[in-house]
Amino acid sequence: MRHYDVPDYDVPDYDVLVVGAGPAGLAAARAAASHGVRVGLVDAQLRAGGQVWRDDVRFGVPAAARRALAALRGQGIDWLERTEIVSVQPDCLLADGPQGARHLHYRQLVLATGARELLLPFPGWTLPGVTGAGGAQALAKQGWPLRGKSVLVAGSGPLLLAASATLRRHGARVLGIHEQAAFDDLRRFAAGLPRWPGKLIQAAALSLRLLGVPYRAGSVVVAAHGDDRLREVEIEGAAGRTRVACDQLAVGYGLVPNTELAQLMGCRLEYPGPHPQVAVDADLRTSLGNVFAAGEACGIGGRDCALVEGAMAGHLAAGKPEAARVLRLRRRHARAFAEHLHRHFALDARVLDLATADTPVCRCEDVPLGALQGLASMREAKLLTRCGMGACQGRICGTALRELGLSWPTNGSVGGVRPPLFPARLAALATLSTPETQGRT
Ligand SMILES: Cc1cc2nc3c(=O)[nH]c(=O)nc-3n(C[C@H](O)[C@H](O)[C@H](O)COP(=O)(O)OP(=O)(O)OC[C@H]3O[C@@H](n4cnc5c(N)ncnc54)[C@H](O)[C@@H]3O)c2cc1C
Repeated sequence: MRHYDVPDYDVPDYDVLVVGAGPAGLAAARAAASHGVRVGLVDAQLRAGGQVWRDDVRFGVPAAARRALAALRGQGIDWLERTEIVSVQPDCLLADGPQGARHLHYRQLVLATGARELLLPFPGWTLPGVTGAGGAQALAKQGWPLRGKSVLVAGSGPLLLAASATLRRHGARVLGIHEQAAFDDLRRFAAGLPRWPGKLIQAAALSLRLLGVPYRAGSVVVAAHGDDRLREVEIEGAAGRTRVACDQLAVGYGLVPNTELAQLMGCRLEYPGPHPQVAVDADLRTSLGNVFAAGEACGIGGRDCALVEGAMAGHLAAGKPEAARVLRLRRRHARAFAEHLHRHFALDARVLDLATADTPVCRCEDVPLGALQGLASMREAKLLTRCGMGACQGRICGTALRELGLSWPTNGSVGGVRPPLFPARLAALATLSTPETQGRT
């Protein structure tokens, strides 16, 4: 990859532009570039790798990530790091990054925008010391001091194991992992794992790294207690309610696809559950002819699924369908694992019933659940309470409300998503809307 470092307006047309440099985006860029087309790869982060391959300040990136990144070198791919796509126009994306605002033109686009963590409100969840499980993992990798801290990990899904292993590696004392799924569900999940030997090996390796850490099934965090910070976590499990003193609580309930960019572009979405995902056909084509989607954005499927879908989307976007079609079987196998996972880690009703009227739901604007009940629309919620109008732009509270069955119908094809997708500098927005930057350069 080469770092793209020229002034605004000189950004070339890409044959294939990839948004997101996680496993899906990296695989897409590599596959497209292997056919000799001009490829651009954009990510909001400083380093490529996405969520699973986030750079770790102490331990670097895993070997698989190093291999994926090395494979991109020398392929002539333009790497636009720390560059956020903030809005769209009919034939280009509007990006803001260290070199300023710019229009990125493309013939074919691959959306590999990944997923975010699902956080659900419960009493005390906004106390300092409480984070998401993936959030705690990301903080640890960025150098957050953990040595000697006692951490409780809770929520649902395999991310709890991955996060616990990272926290332990950074010196935290992991007191226990509390999984909300029932023991029988976990047993059935484990019994099906031999169909995916790679996952079985991954699970075994994680278990080894977590030797001595208690793992409790059917166990739900019902409240976090403290004063100026977290002091105790209240848990409901097989032994009834118990309180555990700790320094940190890392609690996450799985992942939801990042669909906002696809939504803004007008791609059709589908709703297999409460959260949207980008609708794609067997060739990963969205409802827009020249836009493909791959990885978590089109349904939570995990790293292996992201890799194979990214490769397929890259080949297809480069106009090489035959190279993509040989990967279809691998994709089906990876997606079957995702279904297996979702079936056995479905959320227990208890988890959705924890927030009380005074529990904050919108953390950015400090809006409690009670202030939202009885409102008729998202517009009313925004106007009367400012819910969803803070820095996260509804990514946390909107997602939680949807999971709690408290979201409202939205009008229009873009489902209430408005530009800019992320808080953007006024200077960037001004540059992006001046007439001389509107056209193709
Ligand atoms: C917090 C967190 C931690 C995780 N940890 C693990 C783990 O330890 N092990 C594991 O197996 N799985 C983990 N996962 C699951 C992981 O998301 C996937 O398995 C895998 O990373 C999916 O790859 P992807 O390429 O689809 O998406 P991602 O890896 O999520 O990559 C998407 C990329 O798109 C970029 N992006 C999105 N929108 C824009 C935009 N508008 N402009 C510019 N860039 C944009 C993001 O910055 C991101 O780098 C984690 C997920 C999360 C949310």
